[in-house]
Amino acid sequence: MSETNINTKCVQAGYTPKNGEPRQMPIIQSTTFKYDTSEDMGKLFDLEASGYFYSRLQNPTCDMVAAKIAALEGGTAGMLTGSGQAANFYAMFNICECGGHIVSSSSIYGGTFNLIAVTMAKMGIEVTFVAPDCTEEELNAAFKENTKLVFGETIANPALTVLDIEKFAKAAHAHGVPLIVDNTFPTPVNCRPIEWGADIVTHSTTKYMDGHGACVGGVIVDSGKFDWMAHADKFPGLTTPDDSYHGITYAEKFGKEGAFITKATSQLMRDLGSVQSPQSAFILNLGLESLHVRMPRHVENGQAVAEFLEAHPKVVKVNYSGLKSDKFYDLAQKYLPNGGCGVVSFELAGGRAAAEKFMKNLKLAAIETHVADARTCCLNPATSTHRQMTDEQLAAAGIPAGLVRMSCGLEDKKDLIADLSQALDAV
Ligand SMILES: *Cc1c(COP(=O)(O)O)cnc(C)c1O
Repeated sequence: MSETNINTKCVQAGYTPKNGEPRQMPIIQSTTFKYDTSEDMGKLFDLEASGYFYSRLQNPTCDMVAAKIAALEGGTAGMLTGSGQAANFYAMFNICECGGHIVSSSSIYGGTFNLIAVTMAKMGIEVTFVAPDCTEEELNAAFKENTKLVFGETIANPALTVLDIEKFAKAAHAHGVPLIVDNTFPTPVNCRPIEWGADIVTHSTTKYMDGHGACVGGVIVDSGKFDWMAHADKFPGLTTPDDSYHGITYAEKFGKEGAFITKATSQLMRDLGSVQSPQSAFILNLGLESLHVRMPRHVENGQAVAEFLEAHPKVVKVNYSGLKSDKFYDLAQKYLPNGGCGVVSFELAGGRAAAEKFMKNLKLAAIETHVADARTCCLNPATSTHRQMTDEQLAAAGIPAGLVRMSCGLEDKKDLIADLSQALDAV
């Protein structure tokens, strides 16, 4: 099939049945795979032939869904993981080990902040956080001799800042390291970071890709563009023989297109094992089949809700990059011309107490830690997901105590606004 539009890829990429095969992607619910000779299987272990032997490393259903997402992002290879957390950890740890250093936007998901600042620190990995809207000078000053990667989120959860992907990619490449972008909120329907210079893209597929609050999952997509061999001294894991895997040098054997994901599969999945189940991958694929239809409605509802809130006297601030008043409006026009996502955040006059009262009075929008679901939900991060962060850290991440994050679902926008209106009246 010739190169198709992203809408068609959402529906059909990743699996093309042959004559008489199932129309729907099959769930290969099998831990293991049978071979006629040990020699046949040995070739797989030596990475001499491609095929399956154990579903902790690879499973056909998961691979088909990963291939679809790689096609959506414009990458060369993809790998599903058991969660978004696993995707971000594997993407970073694949090239940054003990003694390494990460430059990361400070405006990122709380779980990823903890992962980098606390858990990876225990592994001997350092981090320098930079504001997403820092100057090029500030960004360049964050790099060290041992920097291995740059990390950021296209639209940050929950601060909703927009990453200047080109600026971050330029700085990363000037220092000989890749840019990893978590593209969970816009999805490839609204932004494809690889087209702007990102080298590796990650997702929590738990969010819009699944879209129905059904399965936790993640994915890593490699652009196949970063030249590991050109920076061989920085990335020995990819450019020198892997003694734990038959002495293979990934960047030599699999080239720019395949080295990163092959190493992540044959080392990290093998040893750490955060796999996505074939059942979950199947459900994720159902979500992907309508992603291009759902995203515009999430954006339409998000925009309508943001405009309503901006005009409301009990709201002091609305963060939504589709609003002209938003600090990130210009960047959103550039990177997200069709809109970003359905997540809006706003600060109530009256801070934490007002937020709690407001939340209690919502009828249609449910209180959940979730976002990016077909059903609208709300959260006050300071008292829930981000409670482990100090006030200084909250401020640095742009999350005041009275902030409410609202994920606009696929309901009618008139009903969402009516619910907000009555809950605000009660405050
Ligand atoms: C939710 C989320 C994650 C973590 O994903 P899980 O699937 O919950 O593990 C990572 N990054 C972003 C931007 C998220 O929204």
